[in-house]
Amino acid sequence: MKHEAGACLGATEVQSMKPFQGVDAYHVDGLLQDDERIVRDAVRKWVENEYIPKVPECFDRGEFDRDLIPRVAELGLFGIKLQGYGGHGMSHVNYGLACQELERGDSSLRSLVSVQNSLVMYPISTFGTEAQKERWLPAMVRGEKIGCFGLTEPDAGSDPEHLRTRAVRKGGDYVLNGSKMWITNGELADVAVIWAHTEQGIRGFLVEKDMPGFLALPIPWKYSLRASVTSSLVLDEVRVPEENLLPGTLGLKSALMCLNEARFGIAWGAVGAAMACYEIALEYAGSRVQFEVPIASFQLVQNKLVNMLTEITKAQLLCIQLGRLKDAGVAKHTHVSLAKRNNVWEALKIARTAREMLGANGITLDYHVIRHMLNLESVYTYEGTHDIHTLILGKDITGHDAFAPGTR
Ligand SMILES: Cc1cc2nc3c(=O)[nH]c(=O)nc-3n(C[C@H](O)[C@H](O)[C@H](O)COP(=O)(O)OP(=O)(O)OC[C@H]3O[C@@H](n4cnc5c(N)ncnc54)[C@H](O)[C@@H]3O)c2cc1C
Repeated sequence: MKHEAGACLGATEVQSMKPFQGVDAYHVDGLLQDDERIVRDAVRKWVENEYIPKVPECFDRGEFDRDLIPRVAELGLFGIKLQGYGGHGMSHVNYGLACQELERGDSSLRSLVSVQNSLVMYPISTFGTEAQKERWLPAMVRGEKIGCFGLTEPDAGSDPEHLRTRAVRKGGDYVLNGSKMWITNGELADVAVIWAHTEQGIRGFLVEKDMPGFLALPIPWKYSLRASVTSSLVLDEVRVPEENLLPGTLGLKSALMCLNEARFGIAWGAVGAAMACYEIALEYAGSRVQFEVPIASFQLVQNKLVNMLTEITKAQLLCIQLGRLKDAGVAKHTHVSLAKRNNVWEALKIARTAREMLGANGITLDYHVIRHMLNLESVYTYEGTHDIHTLILGKDITGHDAFAPGTR
C-alpha cells in the first residue's frame, strides 16, 4: 500500500450526479437545530464536491490521501466535540451528523475522523494527565498529529480481555511487548493508544511512533476500506516512560468506554452509506430501460426501493434520539449497541440490494455501491461485531450472559 502525499489528487470524476439533496421521508430535518443543519450541510458540500470525485481512484489503488488530513482539520472535524484544548465543543448530534455525511463519501473517511476523535482524543482527554492533554490535543485538533487505537490482537478480537500484550515496570518505565492487528491509521499515527496487561489490570499507554522497538506495518490484500490505512503494530521491548501511562485507565472498561464513543459515530455513519446507495439505486432505476420501460416501473424494483427508504428512515430516527439521549447525558451503552447493530446491518443489506439493482454496472466503482458494500463488511465487524452487540443486548434484556456460556 502506498501513502504518498496527494497520491490520489487529479483523479477524474467518474460519475456525474445531481447534487445530493438528502434522503428525508419523515421530515427528520425538522428535528434538527439550525447549528446542526449548518454542520451537516458544510460537511455534505465538501464531501460532495471534493471527496467523492477522488475516492474511487483511491479505493482502486488502495491508497489513503494524506492531503485529506489538513482539509478535515480545517473543517473543524478533529476535536469537534472536545471542550477546551482548541476543540470545537459541539454536541454529539453535530458529531453524528458529520459522521453521517463523511460516510456517505466513504467509510474510510468516517473511520479517520472516528479514530482521531473517539479512540485517541477521547481517552487522552478522559484518562490523561494535564501534560498529556496539553501536548497532544491541540496538535490533534489542527491535524498536525494523528493517533491510532491498538486494542485488537491476532488472537484477541471480540474477547479483548485475553489480549497478550504486557507492560512490565522496569525502573521508572514500562516495557511493552506484544502485537496489535487491524489498527486503523497505524502507519499514519504519531501516537498509538496501546492497551496492555499490567499488574493493575489492562491499562492504556501513549506509545510514540519513534520509540525504539515500535513498528507499524501495512496489512496487504485488503478488499474493504481500501482508502483507509489499516496496520499491524509490533511492540518489541518498547520502553515507555511512566508519564506516557494514561493514569485514569483501569481495566478493560476504560477501553470499552472509548469504543462506545466510536460506535456512536458508526451508527450515524452507516446511515450515510445507506443514503448514498439508495440515491444511486433510485436514480439508476429511473433511467435504466429494460422491456421498453424504466426498471423503476417494475413492482419488484419498487419493493426494494421502499424497503431501503423505510430502513433508512428508521435508522435516522434511531440516530437522532440516540444523539439527544447522549447530549442529555443519559445514553447507555446498550442504546449505542442497538443503533450500531441495526444501522450497520440495514446499511449493508441496502448496499447489497443496490448492487443487485444496478445489475452488472453494480460491480464497477463508477457507480460507488460496490465500494460501500465492501466497506460495510468491515464496519459490520469492527467496533464490536454484529453478534457481539446481539450478546450485549441479549444480556441486558434477559440478565443472562451468553458471551461464553458454561465458562463463566
Ligand atoms: C478495517 C478494520 C479496521 C479496524 N480498526 C481497528 C482499530 O483501529 N483498532 C482496533 O483495536 N481494532 C480494529 N479492528 C479490529 C476489529 O475491532 C475486530 O476485527 C473485531 O473486534 C472482531 O475481532 P476478530 O476480527 O478477531 O473476530 P473474532 O473475535 O475472532 O470473531 C470471529 C467471529 O466469531 C464471532 N464471535 C466471537 N465471539 C463470539 C461469541 N461469544 N458468541 C458468538 N459469536 C462470537 C464474531 O461475531 C465473528 O463473527 C479493525 C478491523 C477491521 C476489519
